Amino acid sequence: MALKSWIASANEPDADFPIQNLPYGVFRHGGQTQIGVAIGDCILDLHACASRGLLAGLSEETRAACRAEWLNPLMRLGPVAWRPLRCRLTALLDEAGAVPETQNRVRPLLVSMQEAEMELPAEIGDYTDFYASIDHATRVGKLFRPDNPLLPNYKHIPIGYHGRASSIVASGQEIRRPCGQTKSAESDPAFGPTRALDYELEVGFFVGPGNPLGQSIPIAEAEDHIFGLCLVNDWSARDMQTWEYQPLGPFLAKSFATTLSPWIVTLEALAPYRAWARERAAGDPTPLAYLRSPTAERDGIDLWLEAFLESRRMREAGAAPILLGRSNLRDLYWTIAQLVAHHASNGCNLRTGDLLATGTVSGSDAGSEGCLLEKRYNAEPIYLPDGEARTYLEDGDRITLRAYAQRPGMPRIGFGICSGTIVGASYE
Ligand code: MN
Repeated sequence: MALKSWIASANEPDADFPIQNLPYGVFRHGGQTQIGVAIGDCILDLHACASRGLLAGLSEETRAACRAEWLNPLMRLGPVAWRPLRCRLTALLDEAGAVPETQNRVRPLLVSMQEAEMELPAEIGDYTDFYASIDHATRVGKLFRPDNPLLPNYKHIPIGYHGRASSIVASGQEIRRPCGQTKSAESDPAFGPTRALDYELEVGFFVGPGNPLGQSIPIAEAEDHIFGLCLVNDWSARDMQTWEYQPLGPFLAKSFATTLSPWIVTLEALAPYRAWARERAAGDPTPLAYLRSPTAERDGIDLWLEAFLESRRMREAGAAPILLGRSNLRDLYWTIAQLVAHHASNGCNLRTGDLLATGTVSGSDAGSEGCLLEKRYNAEPIYLPDGEARTYLEDGDRITLRAYAQRPGMPRIGFGICSGTIVGASYE
């Protein structure tokens, strides 16, 4: 029988945060910033748990990490500390396992999510974005090169670039429309607010223990360096990107803002939803040895991803957001283990709290596009319920990303939301 929590809201069938999930985040409540774990519609305050003896038996390092204001100290400790902590938290919240006395000690340490403000989960030193979805790369490539959408390196080497960490913001923060240089075919370059503001539906993963400079990470060990996953909206100004990206890749078209969901879902929580890595098509090259995993049967993750749009008018009218795209993380061409191993293969040191992201996650079918640029492929605008059309995002538009894993006989676990609302450019 599936584990249940004595916190009733965690047992709702469509809850994002049942006892099987237990994602970590950083929240602000009562003037203090603490680490917490999501359970149902509550947050369990880990600082308070550690201070009140509820984490007795765990290492002093683990208890100290739970009293920090960022997740970095906990991320640094690695699976050897993460597993017993998760076990302990499960025991505190389990309906069958937690005796009434334990429940009475834990109950005052729960904070309602409605009363808390979520912050960024970690101090993020570096941010790297990849391009791991072949369906995204193909659809975008077709817009520019109809006969030859994929560049010759794509199936051999994970493509990525170094992003900007300073402009990563927590879900809920407004996104100011960026200004930049653009050039259309018929005009001279000009500076002003982007007219092609897009979202990118991505999954991020945080580095736990890092690797020393000069040493690589073997692919079989790559996942031991991953603390957990979250949602990433890699906002993109397509008109700026088109003009600036050659020959060095994305720059100001991406660095103005990136929105992160606040809850970090661990690989332990995702273990029941692991899947085969995407099978390579006949004729595709075999990856080089350092990218060849011994565990391909479980290197994929069966995780559904969704992006929703709501205009200001829809919000004011109380209309439900519309679904823009639904895709699945298992369809990536490169697995997260391959991305980690590749990133460190030159001896580049990944550091605790670094954020890596998959790049836009798309599927091959219509309706599985992970950004608006790909929808351009159909050359049709998107129509909102009130008849408004969208090619790219307008001021007042809100994009909300969601993710969940679900399998027959298993509980559904969700990622919460990653949301941002566009506000007008500051430009005269
Ligand atoms: Mn991206």
